[in-house]
Amino acid sequence: MEEVLDKGCILERTATGEHDALFSLFTKQHGKIRLRAQGILKQEARLGGILQPLRFVQVRYIQTPGTIHKLVDAALDVSFHELHTYNRKDLLPMLQCVDYITFDAHQDGQMWFFLQSIFSHTFNIEEMARALWKIEGGNISFPHRCQVCQKRQSEVFVASQKNVLCHVCAKGYDTREVIPLSFFNSPDEVR
Ligand SMILES: [Zn+2]
Repeated sequence: MEEVLDKGCILERTATGEHDALFSLFTKQHGKIRLRAQGILKQEARLGGILQPLRFVQVRYIQTPGTIHKLVDAALDVSFHELHTYNRKDLLPMLQCVDYITFDAHQDGQMWFFLQSIFSHTFNIEEMARALWKIEGGNISFPHRCQVCQKRQSEVFVASQKNVLCHVCAKGYDTREVIPLSFFNSPDEVR
């Protein structure tokens, strides 16, 4: 099995089992990848603090035939140090949206550039959604129906649910973690 080096932005971390975690990263050379890190959630784990959403890291991993690869080592990517990306909690919903709309292992230089640019500029959520729409060439498809009630039309992406909901089912979620789907199909992007 091949060992791979890459750099990427951590989109999400999910605990699996007592000490292990699964990471979703958007990388420069391999697009979105998923990595399993064993023992990462143990208190003394060296990489626990490094492997967090919003961080840009260099990773070494073993490519497996499946979709989840095995992390070997990671380090903070110092070239992103000045951006203090870890403090940008406001961008978490956008990272989760990127995680939701992208497919595994599709290298995408524009998306990689987008992820860097949102940390170095002040974009509002609508501008970011439009940029994503453009990068994907309008090929973002959200389920039409609310994924909770299955009745009404889906209207918003709710980051913590990683899903699209209608306005009724989305009530009660913090507006800062909700992205209206209408932002993705803004009139000036429709030909
Ligand atoms: Zn609903």
